[in-house]
Amino acid sequence: MKKLNLQGKGKQIGKKSAAFALTVVLLSAILPQTIHASGVREFSLGYNDELTTIKAQMSDGALYVPLREVSKQLHLQVSGTKDKVVLTGSKHNVVIIPSKQTALSGKKSMPIKTYISAGRLMIPASLLKGTFNFGVAYDGNVSLARITSGKQKLSFSNFVQQSKPALNPAPSQPVTPAKPQNPVHTKPIYLTFDDGPTAHTKELLDILDQYNAKATFFMLGPNINSYPKVVERLVKSGNTAGLHGITHVKSKFYASPASALAEMNQDNEDLYRASGVKTTLIRTPYGSKPYFKDNYRNQVLADGFHLWDWNVDSEDWKYKKDHEKVIQSVLQQIATVEKQGHVPVVLMHDQPATLHVLPEVLKTLSKEGFTFEAIDPSMKPVNFWHDER
Ligand SMILES: [Zn+2]
Repeated sequence: MKKLNLQGKGKQIGKKSAAFALTVVLLSAILPQTIHASGVREFSLGYNDELTTIKAQMSDGALYVPLREVSKQLHLQVSGTKDKVVLTGSKHNVVIIPSKQTALSGKKSMPIKTYISAGRLMIPASLLKGTFNFGVAYDGNVSLARITSGKQKLSFSNFVQQSKPALNPAPSQPVTPAKPQNPVHTKPIYLTFDDGPTAHTKELLDILDQYNAKATFFMLGPNINSYPKVVERLVKSGNTAGLHGITHVKSKFYASPASALAEMNQDNEDLYRASGVKTTLIRTPYGSKPYFKDNYRNQVLADGFHLWDWNVDSEDWKYKKDHEKVIQSVLQQIATVEKQGHVPVVLMHDQPATLHVLPEVLKTLSKEGFTFEAIDPSMKPVNFWHDER
């Protein structure tokens, strides 16, 4: 485990759990409305110097946080499935397997307790500390916890002082449970946008945000260099950055396995300069078939890259004027892919025409219960060669 990273005068989890348990017992006598039937106590949650609307829970002397809401707040990506949830930060990831009460970090497996509360998967706050180095502190007297990224200015006790007026609901007021979010990953779908970023990516991200949707962007190096700010935004907002090469010219990109690899590596450098992150996710120009044959894949994927194509082709580049045709085609293909038991991976392009079809697609699919997820490097790649590297 990593060294615990605690800030301010926060009380260390574990150390004070005995005193804490006592506090819980005492408080339970005077504040029965804050105690759930299961003996779980609700805590307000702060992030750095701000109070959030997220509710944490204290259970058996440990602090638990709702995975989805907290991930969003901390800019961690959530992907995978309900049975195998992948939580990804800029440097580390952790796989949570609720059915086995286990978390996998790197090659390490550790037992953890998770549970469902009001439809939300609750995970121990200590997992965020151990895996991603966030600071966690709490004060049982005021039922307040705080997670810190290192950017906080207030000490924990000052934070508590600052937050007090906003806490303390009237004693007679019943606790309103946090609004249940979507059950974890009922029906994921992966939207992907190629050839960007462009002058329109900002607008594209705004639309995604409206629908609480995440997506994956396979971007070209020169475009990243032209619009570095929006690349930074998309990464920070929980979307995934992927690589699409430099030239987008068949004869150049596919000239040799070495040229393909060199373009992806250069693209990764450009991505790093813009956003501070690198990636292992690639999509080759025009898709990987027929050009990205064995010898290409052996060279490029051996370098740690994961190859992604798609199983739904919007043809949004072809029918730039016929938005309705694109929408209907996308929805039909998704229905087919779903019937076949596959998770849809949709090819779209970062271009103005796509901005006209996107809201309708997001609206319809949301109603059908899809959740729009960003591709995660730990997922099994979907590509035309069934190459799972
Ligand atoms: Zn392309």
